[in-house]
Amino acid sequence: MNRRNFIYLLGCGCLSAGFTSCSSVPITDRRQFKIIPEANINAKASKLYEKIKEKEKLSNDINTLNKIKNIGSKIEYSISEYFLSKNNPDPTANFNWEYILIDNDKVKNAWCMPGGKIAIYTGILKMTKNDNGLAAVMGHEIAHAVAKHSVERASRGVLLNTGTAIIDIATGGKISQVNRSTGMNTVGLLSQIGIMNPFNRKQESEADYLGLIFSSLAGYDIRETVKVWERMKEANKGKEPPEFMSTHPSSANRINTISEWINEIIIKYPPIA
Ligand SMILES: [Zn+2]
Repeated sequence: MNRRNFIYLLGCGCLSAGFTSCSSVPITDRRQFKIIPEANINAKASKLYEKIKEKEKLSNDINTLNKIKNIGSKIEYSISEYFLSKNNPDPTANFNWEYILIDNDKVKNAWCMPGGKIAIYTGILKMTKNDNGLAAVMGHEIAHAVAKHSVERASRGVLLNTGTAIIDIATGGKISQVNRSTGMNTVGLLSQIGIMNPFNRKQESEADYLGLIFSSLAGYDIRETVKVWERMKEANKGKEPPEFMSTHPSSANRINTISEWINEIIIKYPPIA
């Protein structure tokens, strides 16, 4: 092996060229290290999702839930169609999509578990305001799942077998704090698959980029994304800052980076009819 190849492999965290644990993120082509089977993580997520449904109060606002499902199914369809059109494998082929609306106005957050299990808290609706805003947040969360960020993180040995207590210590007690201030009784459960822990900056940026693409393909006006981030930033100054901001630590130039991507993405990824 020559030196150049060696460095290349090291950069990916792979030790041998035949190692199948190396793959790359669709569209961005970033190489990632995945040693834990996706199916294991999806199965775990699916079980946790059932527990969340039992423990949290689900909203009976059927209209909003239908709106969420409608936006979600457009995004689902667009992702599959896009990869099909490029003759590439559909990264969501083994997803089992599901959507819930959790009745908690205090929690301004949303997440998508590995395998496509999505939750929106009623509190974030004040931030998203309209369908385009909701599509922006959903596109971003779905992008984390499509890019298999949890699989990647778990493969780095951080998560699956780590108890909540340890994660809580590592995050300076942030989980307990969220628990107390929002009355979310499932924070501990969610931390088991890292939903309440921030992804790293590279993954966040990648979710921003892919999220814009997915929303655009689904026919939404992605210019609203910038407005959603501005509303988040504004709310972050209040005494009840959005959980979205603690699980999505934002760099000063995040909004600028997103704005710079928008025009190109609108042209390059038009709606899939
Ligand atoms: Zn994110």
